[in-house]
Amino acid sequence: MESAVLLLGSNIGDKAANIHQAIQLIQKNIGKISQTSSMYESEPWGNQDQDSFYNQAVLLQIKETPEQLLAKCQAIELELGRDRKAAQKWAARTIDIDILIIGSKIINTPNLKVPHPELQNRNFALIPLMELLPEYEHPVLNKPIDELYFDSNDELEVLKLEI
Ligand code: ADP
Ligand code: MG
Repeated sequence: MESAVLLLGSNIGDKAANIHQAIQLIQKNIGKISQTSSMYESEPWGNQDQDSFYNQAVLLQIKETPEQLLAKCQAIELELGRDRKAAQKWAARTIDIDILIIGSKIINTPNLKVPHPELQNRNFALIPLMELLPEYEHPVLNKPIDELYFDSNDELEVLKLEI
């Protein structure tokens, strides 16, 4: 078993409901979630011309290989109606599930990069991860998450929601 953190994001429709549904499917198809971060509202990253995102990170123990985990996350994205063909990079989506970390594993294949390669550049990933695992040491950058957040140049706003 390895601990993994997934970052959920939605910016279409009932964003909170989309994230709740993804959490239900993660628990059904992958495993029991031991901790969830707060829900955050984030300014859209990359493409400013779209609605804000809701983001939430979840921590769970996984039995599957990293590739199997990615496949299960993508199946959940599809089940919740994400149209992968129509989606351009940073396009609006019902649900996006990104694997932030898997234990201290370092994975660098064409389909899967772990830790997520943009983690240190995105407040909307650093802030919820920091809430779950503040002292987690990034296995490539060799710094704890709170230090990566301190060093981050991202200026997009990430607001904690009281829901
Ligand atoms: P993004 O999340 O960057 O907006 P997508 O969700 O469409 O875009 O993901 C694009 C591809 O990123 C996926 O097909 C997947 O193979 C790849 N990928 C690489 N590393 C990861 C990771 N850590 N978590 C999720 N997807 C990843
Ligand atoms: Mg993604």
